[in-house]
Amino acid sequence: MERIRIGLVGIGKIARDQHVPALAASDDFDLIATASRHGRVDGIDGHDSIEAMLAARPEIEAVSLCTPPEGRFDQAMSVLRAGRHLMLEKPPSATVSEAQALAKIAEKAGVTLFATWHSREAAEVDAARDWLATRRIDAVRIRWKEDIRHWHPGQDWILAAGGFGVFDPGINALSIATRILPEPLTVLSATLSVPANRTSPIAARIAMRSGDAAVDADFDFLQTGEQSWDIEVDTDAGLLRLTHGGSRIALPGEPAAAGTNEEYPRLYRRLADLIRSGGSDVDLDPIQLVADAFLVAERRSVEAFDF
Ligand code: NAP
Repeated sequence: MERIRIGLVGIGKIARDQHVPALAASDDFDLIATASRHGRVDGIDGHDSIEAMLAARPEIEAVSLCTPPEGRFDQAMSVLRAGRHLMLEKPPSATVSEAQALAKIAEKAGVTLFATWHSREAAEVDAARDWLATRRIDAVRIRWKEDIRHWHPGQDWILAAGGFGVFDPGINALSIATRILPEPLTVLSATLSVPANRTSPIAARIAMRSGDAAVDADFDFLQTGEQSWDIEVDTDAGLLRLTHGGSRIALPGEPAAAGTNEEYPRLYRRLADLIRSGGSDVDLDPIQLVADAFLVAERRSVEAFDF
């Protein structure tokens, strides 16, 4: 199978931690260039912008965007207008309408658009979905609590408008919940805690529903000590616990299972399949839930936050 020549855009934390290693190990892709205002990858041809990268390396067939969501729409448009396949880090865009527009434009252009949700690729998510498929769901508790200073040091964009605040990690939980629960999720109410000197929430509580089940989500960016990326589901057959971001599962009467983290290799294998089959994958359910939470939310101003 011919390898696909790809360019990587936005050389920051996730590009370095996950995308570069996943591409280096991939049988499907050759990473031949990057575009980033400051970031560079050793040994890879680096450019300051997408336009400069595509002009210098016209053989690039696909582009993967790892920039923050605010501003990504214009970058995505540059790629689609140039007729290249496009992969988007989560969340796919700053707004739902931007992502919907990108899907339509990609379809018209006849190129692949892959809006990724890396947490759905965590090792035990498929097992959770399969086990829940035949159960009655009674209640769901989502606890997604992490230390912003540890995981996102100095990333001021996250708490700015369009940065999603605590929904930046929280949307990962929503991407898993929308994958594993048999019935669609809807938002009932939400409370957003916004630091006095910032625009986006640093904590959030969201009440949702899935079928007849109440779904409670508790997102917190100020968690020190033990971090939690956990989803508990009460069912007619007992309690399912999906923990550690979806990489561990505990089912009633079975020994706990922990898989290996292959999220990004799986995403790039899927991108290759989509490109080769001429398909796209754009599921906007997680970002729609975030938008709905913002629509109905009660906002509270809380203590100013500095990194
Ligand atoms: P980051 O460390 O801030 O890196 C993003 C890079 O994008 C920056 O280094 C910057 O490189 C470039 N950029 C372009 N426009 C920018 C702007 N207006 N403001 C700031 N940077 C800009 O962020 P990240 O943690 O890698 O996150 C990027 C995306 O990946 C987000 O959508 C995030 O949700 C997602 N993600 C992050 C993680 C994680 O653990 N960090 C995990 C999974 C997914 P230049 O200055 O060189 O242009």
